[in-house]
Amino acid sequence: MCPFFCEQWANPSSPYAFAKQASDAIEIARSHVASLIGAKPNEIVFSSCATESNQTVLHGVRGKVATSTVEHSSIIDFLKERDNTCFVPVDGAGRLDLEALDFSLTQQQIELVSVIWANNEVGVISPIEQTAKICKKHGVLFHSDAVQAAGKIEVDVKTNEVDYLSLSAHKIFGPKGIGALYVRDGAPYRPLLVGRQEKGRRGGTEAVPLIVGFGKAAELAKKDLSARMGHTKKMRDMLENSILQQIPEAYINGDKTCRLPNTTNIGFKGIDSDTFIQFLSTQGIMAANGSACKSSAITPSHVLTAMGRTHEESNEAIRFSLSHLTQENDICSAVSILKTLAESLRG
Ligand code: PLP
Repeated sequence: MCPFFCEQWANPSSPYAFAKQASDAIEIARSHVASLIGAKPNEIVFSSCATESNQTVLHGVRGKVATSTVEHSSIIDFLKERDNTCFVPVDGAGRLDLEALDFSLTQQQIELVSVIWANNEVGVISPIEQTAKICKKHGVLFHSDAVQAAGKIEVDVKTNEVDYLSLSAHKIFGPKGIGALYVRDGAPYRPLLVGRQEKGRRGGTEAVPLIVGFGKAAELAKKDLSARMGHTKKMRDMLENSILQQIPEAYINGDKTCRLPNTTNIGFKGIDSDTFIQFLSTQGIMAANGSACKSSAITPSHVLTAMGRTHEESNEAIRFSLSHLTQENDICSAVSILKTLAESLRG
């Protein structure tokens, strides 16, 4: 990324020769991002973030949208502003109810289905291939938010026939502030930001260094995918097993088979997750929960609520994210800190 901040700083749309270096770099990055998801380079539109990618798709649709109850807030909050959304439920393990989706598409006039590829709070993977088939059967457009899935598991737009797909660089070790939208060749498209860049699909001068960083991250994520997946899963399983063995009344939220290798969501009975997270961070463990504090009242995670978890269960859930960089000794020290803190908070 560095040369594109200081040396090759030209605006890629400028007419002089110097600009060609920047526009060439964008095209190389585009082909790496495309390759990560099995797309063609011309099907990738760069955006500022996945929130923009998600909302570009929703903005392009005038009719009714069907979506799941466990989408990222960038989808749910946008659709809440409209009154014509059909929310499809998930079961207690966070798995999408495909029959309910099929039934909704039979009963209602739906223009677009939007389903998260893998959930950001519990890591549960959605049945994207089957969802795509249902959409195709009903002649409905299909978008998937694949922010958490790309670079963590195989994501291929050829075997899973989506029309649109959202990506974000910072979830695959790329820079923050850059995202992409896959738009299948021939799929209807209405830009959110009108302008000449990105072949008229997204206005605004391209963030060349960030795009270059995204391209590199995508290249590495694709090259190392299976090694990263295998190692991360091993670490995740080790973390979960150690917690379940060593800390009483801990339990996992979400389907245990169909989920991302890097995410685990664990409830610690009787311990408030906000307090737990604050103490953990003082000990060097950066974990998160799905709740957001609003005017000092804690809103329970909409994902866990949709999975039928009680308010109490939702408030004791913590999400741990791992990666190919996580090592066995990280797990051992994390578990030992968790154990000590859980005992003292319960005490
Ligand atoms: N979708 C999912 C599933 C996410 O996890 C996130 C970010 O956490 C987003 C969308 C939004 O991504 P961005 O921060 O690039 O807007």
